[in-house]
Amino acid sequence: MSERADARAGQTGRADDERFMALALREAERALDENEVPVGAVVVASGTVIARAHNQMVTLRDPTAHAEMLAITQAAAALENERLTSATLYVSLEPCAMCAGALVLSRVDRVVFGASDPKAGACGSIMDLLAHPKLNHAPRVTAGVSAEAARHLLQRFFATRRCAGAKRRGAGGASRPGASENDEED
Ligand SMILES: [Zn+2]
Repeated sequence: MSERADARAGQTGRADDERFMALALREAERALDENEVPVGAVVVASGTVIARAHNQMVTLRDPTAHAEMLAITQAAAALENERLTSATLYVSLEPCAMCAGALVLSRVDRVVFGASDPKAGACGSIMDLLAHPKLNHAPRVTAGVSAEAARHLLQRFFATRRCAGAKRRGAGGASRPGASENDEED
């Protein structure tokens, strides 16, 4: 798959969004392989992928090592610019408050996310930082791109973990009532 968009920078269509989201989902799969909550992100500028990252909180022992944070840092380094004004960030799960705040600070042009996060999502679910009228930058936002695939990865991760937890407790595999894929943040 070519990582060059056919469309002009900043004018990607749905097909391009899905194509770049597929790369973010591939990163999420890498997180899953590393027993991290499976969330992945890529940053695209002028039709080229300039950053790709996945959750590494456990690996790095860093609560701020969310996919988006790592991708923003990589993208700024690639562009040699602390402002990502020409870039789009694709992430498989709705960003949390920390990441949404970082996205505002980065002045990123556009944010595209997959699944919504009803427990911690800060781009419309529990709050909407990316559209806050008092903040001095509001990225354009597209939600729900390849959401089903993103959700499926999260469900796989939490199902495996619940199963392992039940085995440890000797509880016969019963899952905790009300447990959801968003019990823990990305
Ligand atoms: Zn986050």
